[in-house]
Amino acid sequence: MQSAPVSQGILQVAVPSPLPYTFDYLLPAHCELKQIVPGARVRIPFGRGQKIGVVVAHKSDSEIALSRLKPVIELLDDEAILTAEIQSLMQWASRYYQYPIGEAFSAALPTLLRQGEAAKLSGEKTWRLNQTGRSVEAQTLQRAPRQLALLQHLQQTDKALTAGELDLQFENWRGVMRNLAEKGWIDIREQATSPSPAAAVDTTTAPALNAAQTLACEAIHSALDGFQSLLLDGVTGSGKTEVYFSAVEQVLRADKPALILVPEIGLTPQLLKRFQQRFAVPIALLHSGLNDKARMNSWLQAKAGDAPIVIGTRSAVFTPMARLGIILIDEEHDLSFKQQEGFRYHARDVAIRRAQQAEIPIVLGSATPSLESLHNARQGRFQHLTLPERAGDAAHPKIRLLDVRQQKLTEGFSTTMLQAIQYHLDKQQQVLLFLNRRGYAPTLICHDCGWLANCARCDAHMILHKSRNLLRCHHCDSQRRIDAQCPDCGSVDLRPLGQGTERAAEALAERFPHNEIIRIDRDSTRRKGTLQKLLKQVQAGRGQILLGTQMLAKGHHLPNVTLVGILDADQGLFGIDFRASERMGQLIIQVAGRAGRGDQRGEVLIQTHHPEHPLLNGIINHDYSRFASDLLIERSQARLPPFRHIALLRAEASSREQPHKFLSAAREMGLQLTAPAELLGPIPAAMEKRAGRYRALLLIQADKRIALHNFLRHWLPQLSQLPLAKKVRWSIDVDAMEIG
Ligand code: ADP
Ligand code: ZN
Ligand code: ZN
Repeated sequence: MQSAPVSQGILQVAVPSPLPYTFDYLLPAHCELKQIVPGARVRIPFGRGQKIGVVVAHKSDSEIALSRLKPVIELLDDEAILTAEIQSLMQWASRYYQYPIGEAFSAALPTLLRQGEAAKLSGEKTWRLNQTGRSVEAQTLQRAPRQLALLQHLQQTDKALTAGELDLQFENWRGVMRNLAEKGWIDIREQATSPSPAAAVDTTTAPALNAAQTLACEAIHSALDGFQSLLLDGVTGSGKTEVYFSAVEQVLRADKPALILVPEIGLTPQLLKRFQQRFAVPIALLHSGLNDKARMNSWLQAKAGDAPIVIGTRSAVFTPMARLGIILIDEEHDLSFKQQEGFRYHARDVAIRRAQQAEIPIVLGSATPSLESLHNARQGRFQHLTLPERAGDAAHPKIRLLDVRQQKLTEGFSTTMLQAIQYHLDKQQQVLLFLNRRGYAPTLICHDCGWLANCARCDAHMILHKSRNLLRCHHCDSQRRIDAQCPDCGSVDLRPLGQGTERAAEALAERFPHNEIIRIDRDSTRRKGTLQKLLKQVQAGRGQILLGTQMLAKGHHLPNVTLVGILDADQGLFGIDFRASERMGQLIIQVAGRAGRGDQRGEVLIQTHHPEHPLLNGIINHDYSRFASDLLIERSQARLPPFRHIALLRAEASSREQPHKFLSAAREMGLQLTAPAELLGPIPAAMEKRAGRYRALLLIQADKRIALHNFLRHWLPQLSQLPLAKKVRWSIDVDAMEIG
């Protein structure tokens, strides 16, 4: 006979699993209920293994017979590792995004905590100069410039630096550090670092705010006492960062921390540096470039209140921070805020919810706000702050369309474009060329029979990467050596078709042999720190050509760039996704915004085969708000977001039929419900075959958000009962950003 449990206490635990509910457990041995706070992690038996879960609540009763409940194996925290605030945010996000509660709780934790590591600052290797190193004179290292640079950096910062911090500053610093260490100048330690303020804080660089900035700051200051969403809609170079600084300053003065979300820290090291130069407080960083230990340390420091400023990417929105004072989102339109797999949350929208919960303001900044945010501003839900002019003396660049129809193009460059490049280089300025296709060419074609190098596993071409002698699929990553012969007709006359950054760089090097060509794309910056190095080279440089993909569009301040050339604007004009034109417009305006940010007026040239296209014409007038208004009218007529609310049910399987059958059955089920949403499809995904699997989708739409959610709540639990539900892989994407 089983003995009754000593205590009646039952723990309700969120356990990462595909099941959309929590699980009940008994107390661990020798533990009292009051020792276990909601928000603490526990190790529990699950299935045949063990998992790490988070206690959601205490219960006195379970729907499951007590005799069938298992005890918790181990209590991992004696305090709430997920604060009450974050627990309730995750509860909300789990409901909103229809994602299993246990997985949502788990997603809020840094990897190591998710795996059960103790929640304490863990030692990290750090490097700093010792007494001797500090007094080394520069001429000692005259013939070792890299060592000198690192030495001087260490002399200036004069603090223990972690690998993560060094990565941000120096490419391949480890070898150089070893050299310095061999000379006996370096003190290496394993220690729990706490974020320390940058040594060189310089507030004198703060410019006097202009009228528009002042108004925006005042609006934010007077919103500090409660929940309010403010859209900071400021053209590129209008000084949005100064407005962020002012807001953060106010919040810090009230002794509260600030949370700043950015699209990708690796891409915007400058923003971080500016914050470090401005504020003499510890700043915690949270982004995917950090190793797991560093990331957990930052997270714990933020939670402990040791870092009044937290700057992070998407998942940093879940960082526990006591008495949070404000949330800022830079480049709020950026797609990387939406997670595109698994937990498909939108960090901007979660952040708004968090601000509402915490009764604090949230500022969404962008030169090209999303249509969602503009719509919210028009509806009066967001306060709309505008910075219509560039700050300081910088003027708007002049934008011109180059009609390339019937023009001779040399490797994708029109004569006018080449002349303009020459002109700006002659004046010792910089040229930025934008081409949103990496690789050498989009594919390889057989000149004799027309065969194209396609991916066997995807409905896509293989991209030619000439320097690595590879054909590579950017969708499934499969790769092979470049074919020597056409597999269809045996011809050896295989030619690259179209143009990517690698090919354009080659053409430019031939044409402008005396100028440095700097290519910036995922391939050229694969190694850690390379992008920083390249950007640094560009900061001070003259007479260079920068050529790159959308990585170049992101917020970089490149004062010597006076010409921006967009080599192919047509790519985005006719995309199948209903957001394609919005994206294209944002991208072009962001790239164009890199021109003339110094004291020289900039010029932007856009090559297109569709110079009459209304969207392009909106852009050349620098009128993003007109452009966006036109798009909003289209969206409203087509009854698309932000005027309606959508979700996407995606399914994939190894046969073409199964996803369709599953989605059709799901649709039938949905139509039986008392308040069905509008269901469209099933249709094949834009790229039907990817990585060997066939994909299809069903679009769910409703006029009201609440109607959409009511429908999903009743419909989704039934789907797992469909016979095909176990044969296909399916997922729901609430507020889907990409219909594909
Ligand atoms: P944004 O983020 O809106 O693109 P930034 O904040 O990067 O713009 O500002 C662009 C440049 O203008 C920076 O060099 C900044 O120092 C400068 N700046 C900002 N505000 C002012 C101002 N009020 N007066 C003069 N220069 C300013
Ligand atoms: Zn052929
Ligand atoms: Zn592929």
